[in-house]
Amino acid sequence: MLPSLFLSHGSPMVALTRDPAHDFLAGLGAALGRPRAILVASAHWETAVPMVNAVARNRTIHDFGGFPRALYELRYEAPGDPVLAEQVADLLGSAGLQAGIDRARGLDHGAWVPLLLAYPQADVPVLQISVQSHLGPAHHFEVGRALAPLRAQGVLVIGSGSFTHDLSRFRGQEADAPEAPDVAAFSAWMEAALLAGRRCELLTYRHKAPFAAAQHPTEEHLLPLFVAMGAAGAESRAERLHASVSYGMLRMDAYAFS
Ligand code: ZN
Repeated sequence: MLPSLFLSHGSPMVALTRDPAHDFLAGLGAALGRPRAILVASAHWETAVPMVNAVARNRTIHDFGGFPRALYELRYEAPGDPVLAEQVADLLGSAGLQAGIDRARGLDHGAWVPLLLAYPQADVPVLQISVQSHLGPAHHFEVGRALAPLRAQGVLVIGSGSFTHDLSRFRGQEADAPEAPDVAAFSAWMEAALLAGRRCELLTYRHKAPFAAAQHPTEEHLLPLFVAMGAAGAESRAERLHASVSYGMLRMDAYAFS
């Protein structure tokens, strides 16, 4: 049975720049093996209700600005899986979650940047599911719970966001800047809670974790974590796969739930 994963996708430059997070993502596909399909809950697709994309082939969405031209020339045109998309929508509906199908959307950089490194041949079918930033962690945990049966079918469920994400501090920072103390404190609290399986505390992290609102002024980059947690089931265990920091404020941590 495949684990579900939370990945920090960081700056899109991770696709081009060798650093510990790049190297971790580049080794991930070989470590996991080839799934039947990949379903990514990305922080960069926000909708009112969960939406799943259903396309024959994914186009590459370059949803960022101000980066070098080489980044805009990258393509990740993995096939989609419209039949699986219908099944995903049905699973959500059976769980009492209103859901929809988007027959046009491709892959945003929350999905394609990590997958370009992990599965560079782009031959595994990829689907995306959106997040609902107004609905908070518990909703996303329930979305993940609804998706759990997919793991037994060989579908790799990935939540792609960022362990910390205060972009107001991004500009002017060097990639190898030292980690800010509040970033480290928040991350240490989250890691301890994840490894101990303190689900209730995690679902209310915003009121419990130090500097939570500072690390996530808006929640969309942490919400995919709860999808990944939920997809592994109520008794899931977390394992930390990777930890690093870029620009002193973007934690690139990754977890597996099984
Ligand atoms: Zn992002």
